[in-house]
Parts: sequence; C-alpha cells; structure tokens
Amino acid sequence: MTTATIETTLPSEPSQEWRPRAFCRSCGEDFNGDRYFDLHRVGAHEYEWSPEHEDGRRCLDESELRARGLRRNAEGRWHDPESAERLRGAHRR
Ligand SMILES: [Zn+2]
Repeated sequence: MTTATIETTLPSEPSQEWRPRAFCRSCGEDFNGDRYFDLHRVGAHEYEWSPEHEDGRRCLDESELRARGLRRNAEGRWHDPESAERLRGAHRR
C-alpha cells in the first residue's frame, strides 16, 4: 500500500505573514506606523500633486524617504531607526 501525500500549499491564510500596517494606496509602500505614513505625504492637503499643482499632495519617493532618515525594515515597512533608538534611550531615564 502506498500512501500518496499530495503536498499542496493551501491558500488558506495568506495574510498571516504580511499584513499592511499603514499602507499607502498611492505609492504602494507600507509604514511601520501612522507617524511615518504622515511623514511621507507632503504638499498641500487641498489638491493632489499634478504638473499644474507642483506643491500638491504627493508621496515622497524612496530616495526622499531615505534622506529623511527612514529605512525599510526586515518586513519591508518604512520606519526611522534613529528616532526609535532615541525613544528607547529616553525611556530608560
Ligand atoms: Zn504614499
């Protein structure tokens, strides 16, 4: 008698490993918290960015995020390792 084990990856819980925390539908990036999300949206609130409204609301791109000290963590979410470090330091006092 042969026991045939059919190994199939069940698509049961695809959201187990990765679920967005502060996901931006405009640029497709996820952020490790609302404050980082807020940080990456710049410009006027009244209108979206467009060639006619260059000061309009838009997302920072990857190099701009990095220039502001944000880094992508192991889960692919943007966060600020330096301010996280500062917070830990302040907490100890
Ligand atoms: Zn965005």
